[in-house]
Amino acid sequence: MLTIKLPQIFRIHQVPRIFWEDGIISGYRHPKSSALDCILSSFQMNNETVNIWTHFLPTWYFLWRFLMLSYSLDFWHDTYSWPFLAYMWLICLYPFTSSCAHTFSTMSTHARHICYFLDYGALSLYSLGCAFTYGAYSMPDCWVNGPLHHYFVPVAAFNSFVCTSLSCYSRFLELECPPLSRILRTAAFVYPFIFDNIPLFYRIFFCFGEDCAWNDAIAGYFYHLFFALLTGFLFASHLPERLAPGRFDFIGHSHQLFHICAVVGTHFQLEAVLCDLHLRQEWLSTHAPASTFTHTFAILGTALLGNLVLIAVFTITLLRSSVTTTILQSTPSEVERHKDK
Ligand SMILES: [Zn+2]
Repeated sequence: MLTIKLPQIFRIHQVPRIFWEDGIISGYRHPKSSALDCILSSFQMNNETVNIWTHFLPTWYFLWRFLMLSYSLDFWHDTYSWPFLAYMWLICLYPFTSSCAHTFSTMSTHARHICYFLDYGALSLYSLGCAFTYGAYSMPDCWVNGPLHHYFVPVAAFNSFVCTSLSCYSRFLELECPPLSRILRTAAFVYPFIFDNIPLFYRIFFCFGEDCAWNDAIAGYFYHLFFALLTGFLFASHLPERLAPGRFDFIGHSHQLFHICAVVGTHFQLEAVLCDLHLRQEWLSTHAPASTFTHTFAILGTALLGNLVLIAVFTITLLRSSVTTTILQSTPSEVERHKDK
């Protein structure tokens, strides 16, 4: 009879330091797992299982929404829908990449870093996706055709390079200077978030009167901002596991809550953007410049390529750095002992 042996799991001091997570004591997978073990481990309760599924299932939800919307929106011919098309690609990409990163991050210490380089790249591109839709559908009336509107998407594309660079670089400081690493990584994502949301902040909190596009989308944006703030708080605070180390190893730790809040926030954002897209179509079609191939897909392609190049540079640096290799590849003999069992 065919039997499948599930991978063994370990406690914190049995895995190299680079794999340690604040407040997580048990449920670690072997730091040199095979690809098959990584896939099998997603069906076994360990401290990454919920992380994997909280982004894998939403990937299918967003793909399903994408498919349904492709029946009502003419993505081929209607240039008005192109920024939304770019956004849909990117909100499917980021949870998928994250799910893969959490699945395969225990193949080796290097694989862990490369997985998260890719995860950060996909998140940076998601920020660009937000800028595509906010620039096309969410600008307050009084800012349409203004300087911010003209340069909004190109600046967001540039921000994606800054975000990927900072967040990938922060991994090199993880062991030597954890506080600085955490500050850099948080700043890398807070900065493009603030930039992308300038039109929304203005529309929701500072704009009063007829030129503010106050419509049904506002409630959705408000919920999106609430969940985005919660996401940031969970990412930075490592609560609740910091207060009770070991209590939330398998279910309820901050990274799982972070994933869930990010996805719920993206869901509200998607609904709000759709609302603006439909409600403001007539007004935007006559007052705003039409979306062009260059302004949408050429910028998206450049950002995609640029981010991949940055990730390749960080990967080569990682593989070539003898210092990093020595530090990161130190594996306690205990782990080897367990592997031999
Ligand atoms: Zn994650």
